[in-house]
Amino acid sequence: MLDVLKRIIQSVNSARNLSAALEIIVEGVISEISADVCSVYVFDDTRNEFVFMATRGLNPESVGQVRLAPNEGLVGYVRERAEPINLDNAPAHPRYHFIPEIGEEAFKSFLGVPIIQNRRVLGVLVVQQIEARRFDESEEALLITLSAQLAGVMVHAHVTSVLEVEASAQQFSGTAGAPGIAIGTAVVRESLSLLDTVPDRHVKNVEGEVAEFRRAVQAAQIEIRTLADQLRDHLGPEEQGLFDVYLHMLDEQALAGEVIALIREGQWAQGALRTVIGNHVATFAAMSDRIIRERADDVKALGQRVLAQLRNETGGEREYPENAVLVADEITPDMLGEVPRHLLAGIVSLRGSSNSHVAILTEAMGVPSVMGTENLPLEVLEGKAVVVDGFNGIVITDPTEDQRRVYERIQKEEEQLAEGLSELKSEPPETLDGHLIRLSVNTGLTTDVTTSLDRGAEGVGLYRTEFQFMMKDRFPTEEEQYGIYREHLSAFAPNPVTMRTLDIGGDKSLTYFPIEETNPFLGWRGIRVSLDHPELFLSQVRAMIRACENTDACLRIMLPMVSSVAEVDEAQRLISQCYQELIEEGIEVEMPDIGVMIEVPAAVYQARAIVSRVDFLSVGSNDLTQYMLAVDRNNAQVAPLYQEYHPAVLHALKQVVDAAHAEGKPVSLCGEMAGNPASAVLLMAMGYDELSMNSPNLLQVKAAIRQIAIPQAMEILDEVLRMDNAYLIRNHVDERLRDLGLARVLRRQGDGFAG
Ligand code: PEP
Ligand code: MG
Repeated sequence: MLDVLKRIIQSVNSARNLSAALEIIVEGVISEISADVCSVYVFDDTRNEFVFMATRGLNPESVGQVRLAPNEGLVGYVRERAEPINLDNAPAHPRYHFIPEIGEEAFKSFLGVPIIQNRRVLGVLVVQQIEARRFDESEEALLITLSAQLAGVMVHAHVTSVLEVEASAQQFSGTAGAPGIAIGTAVVRESLSLLDTVPDRHVKNVEGEVAEFRRAVQAAQIEIRTLADQLRDHLGPEEQGLFDVYLHMLDEQALAGEVIALIREGQWAQGALRTVIGNHVATFAAMSDRIIRERADDVKALGQRVLAQLRNETGGEREYPENAVLVADEITPDMLGEVPRHLLAGIVSLRGSSNSHVAILTEAMGVPSVMGTENLPLEVLEGKAVVVDGFNGIVITDPTEDQRRVYERIQKEEEQLAEGLSELKSEPPETLDGHLIRLSVNTGLTTDVTTSLDRGAEGVGLYRTEFQFMMKDRFPTEEEQYGIYREHLSAFAPNPVTMRTLDIGGDKSLTYFPIEETNPFLGWRGIRVSLDHPELFLSQVRAMIRACENTDACLRIMLPMVSSVAEVDEAQRLISQCYQELIEEGIEVEMPDIGVMIEVPAAVYQARAIVSRVDFLSVGSNDLTQYMLAVDRNNAQVAPLYQEYHPAVLHALKQVVDAAHAEGKPVSLCGEMAGNPASAVLLMAMGYDELSMNSPNLLQVKAAIRQIAIPQAMEILDEVLRMDNAYLIRNHVDERLRDLGLARVLRRQGDGFAG
């Protein structure tokens, strides 16, 4: 059964649109199950009805014509119950609804299986038979397994085809990355390794494109020959022959010829290559012979090889439109630098979630972003008008005039709010009754310095040193780090700059230091890497401390991902060693304050023991939330479960403050919660001494703090600490703050076209 499933799913994956995908499904099912009919009804969200979309055995002319109300007939019944319905005498069932056009009167048995993704019924897969019988368990199991596998593919295929056919406004949900609205033009950044995500693009200079393609093919052929030569001593003549087959496949009588024909129709070489390779892969994948099927992989590999060549030769400077919205399967930090900042309006990443590091980077840059829009059809997006709603995590393609107007209005209101807030720049972050809290910024990029100073930041609560490491193709030397750190420290002097030691692992990797793990977030991360590589740690700490020499800079060093006191002791021993060395070298510096990040539940329970050893604590609520709730901060599938207002998280946050204060030490919080005005008020009420956030949020948080008195904030905190449901807590906090007149400075949610 696994073999059958794999084959059907492979073919469906390479289908270009919904109809092709569904054809493969019905064909595949009917050849495996002894049934007279297999059909698929797709649920059309926009019209709230089922569409009869594919069939074997019923009237093919009704495809696309027959529509059913959401609860109509047995198909509607399957949707309603969200489970399979298996009947041996369907016409006798009270929910049976006879549709003359599709010609199903002769069929007695009926098995309908819902196709579900994220709790939504996307469609119903139906098999029917003339003979009255119940479909057996194994048949039902096959359909259920197939439906579960197909759901993801179907969402994607569905929207792709709808966009192609109707080119009308479509709305896609993801999670909010960075707040703000962008209205602009989609620029699709192709994932380097995925031929499937190459977008359609039209070329005017057809002959130039053909020449480019021929050159790429020749280069790929040379590569293959070289490969064959290198393997000559290791392969028998039969295997060697395989390389000749590859070379022939790339001939103009074969694949290359087909690609050239498509280029001559106006498609660019990469798009034409994608189509031709996709078609061949689908044909091979649908074959029942295993050996032939495996050829599908060979064809794919050939396509990738030519694509890589095309990219090398066509990868010159790209032009970007004004208000470019960068869209990619997975946005990486280096991509963010590709589009000139003044042209970059928004960012959409099909993967990732609101607390992915890329989302945080986009927020630091002040660029609205939406993450985890897994269904967005990359291949047809290039050049389309899009709206990025970074407040609600929504992307709209081809917005209607009405939608445009609404979002333009929100944009304008945001601009006005920002203008109004700029007056607060030199005002203190002080509550109505005179309680002061320190508001700092999170930095990592050089550009952060200017934007932070612009907003009157009081210092840096988290400097993510790894971003500098990510921009290089090797570890930076001590001297290079020294230069960067010194600049950063001087820019904020005499205010404190809290430098976090290298925090790689998890979702932050260095190309030149790959960490391969099945479970990276539970693996070699942060301080664990530093302690295992003292040479890296020592040179980083030396660079940090040296960078203060002869300045009035105030350095604080902070250790990420600590889960035991032993790690703190060892790190402190190394830092003291560095300091002693520097003193012996005659460098005049002071020992910086050392702090620990509380990011894992173990550290919450040991907060007191930890803080007694160091000078301060800082809570990394992004990681703490993910580890407390066992919800991957990058995984869009579980994004709704990632709740910073979860009672367990709130109680843990309170416990950390109490532990630090019991030892008479200050405590800050530098996760994303600090930058959200509503949660910032709660954190202040808990007693946090400092909140550190991305600079674009600073003035909004300050505005909230300046409009509330401590007893009011503590009352709200008191109420929520007695509540047990994250959704209710969030609504409660919002409602209470609105009642206190803070509506204008709260983060927008539910505006625009969010459902
Ligand atoms: C955190 O985990 O909250 C944090 C501030 O660190 P990072 O987001 O860089 O993991
Ligand atoms: Mg962290």
